[in-house]
Amino acid sequence: MKFIKATQLKDKPDATKLKFGQLFTDYMLEMNYENGQWGEPVISPYHDLVLAPESMILHYGQGIFEGAKAFRNDEGKIILFRLMDNLKRLNLSAERMCMPQMDTDKVMGYILELIDIERDWVPSSPETSLYLRPTMIATEKAVGVHASNSYKFFVILSPVGPYINGFNNPAKIYVEDTYTRAAVGGTGEAKCVGNYAGSILAAHKAKAKGYNEVLWLDAKDRQYIEEVGAMNVMFVVDGEIITPTLTGSILRGITRDSIIKMMRDIGYTVREERININDLIKWYDEGRVTEMFGCGTAAVVSPVGTLTYKDKVCVFNNGKSGPVARVAFDRLDDIRKLRVPDKYGWITVLGK
Ligand SMILES: *Cc1c(COP(=O)(O)O)cnc(C)c1O
Repeated sequence: MKFIKATQLKDKPDATKLKFGQLFTDYMLEMNYENGQWGEPVISPYHDLVLAPESMILHYGQGIFEGAKAFRNDEGKIILFRLMDNLKRLNLSAERMCMPQMDTDKVMGYILELIDIERDWVPSSPETSLYLRPTMIATEKAVGVHASNSYKFFVILSPVGPYINGFNNPAKIYVEDTYTRAAVGGTGEAKCVGNYAGSILAAHKAKAKGYNEVLWLDAKDRQYIEEVGAMNVMFVVDGEIITPTLTGSILRGITRDSIIKMMRDIGYTVREERININDLIKWYDEGRVTEMFGCGTAAVVSPVGTLTYKDKVCVFNNGKSGPVARVAFDRLDDIRKLRVPDKYGWITVLGK
């Protein structure tokens, strides 16, 4: 590992006023791939990237990323949550996008070194954390569609507060019936840059109508619920939690997986199944749907207050955040801050 020291460090922000993804720390990690192998990792002062205008990422979109978080717990320890799972998913995304694999153990070590250097940037106020953005882009200088022969991997860090509304401000969601996010056989399971580019117009139009995000339906039948924005989604029906089963076009969320496991362990029934929007509306009319929430690393657990499908408006829990979402949020927070023992092997404590 090469380390280049900064001549001057930035002032740390007021942790109670943090927004999401606006501010980056003093250092970043970089590693380049050339001639079939990854080179030496470098930690150096945060800087702009210099790319030739023909760099392949700019034209053909071979770009993938991850989102993970480091937390500071009540005792001041710095804790990484399921970072290895993020790196494994980065490799799955790389495979789908015809990009090179990484050695997850080594990369995990490099990222821990970076966070150790930046440990003073990990905030401690409630709902704050240090967000990690590992990214890989195609850097070959050539026009013409093919797999790039060179890549850059980098990791930047951002101290963050709540993502969209925060837990106590449930979202208004619009069921998107014109645009789709992903189709089976496409790239929906990969965290690749193009997926987000393709989703922006729908979100933009929904926001103009006063909604926070869209709910995506499947691309084939336009009936099955997939995700909300860039989050997985869960419903509480007859007191049980149901979430769309992974069909190939849904992102395999680590938060989703964590909530399924945790909630089963504390006695909830959690079912993964295909959920038809028309069935959901029928259950709602029968008074059986009591909560809806999104889940993801950035937003954590994000309660939904209203869901609008064509002319129909469903209101969950009187538009307030619900008790099951609260349990999921608290349980996740307890594990990530080691207030309860980590029986899942999800936690890495820095410096131990
Ligand atoms: C990242 C992401 C999620 C959430 O995944 P986590 O691993 O829980 O952060 C869900 N859907 C999409 C489309 C995503 O990009």
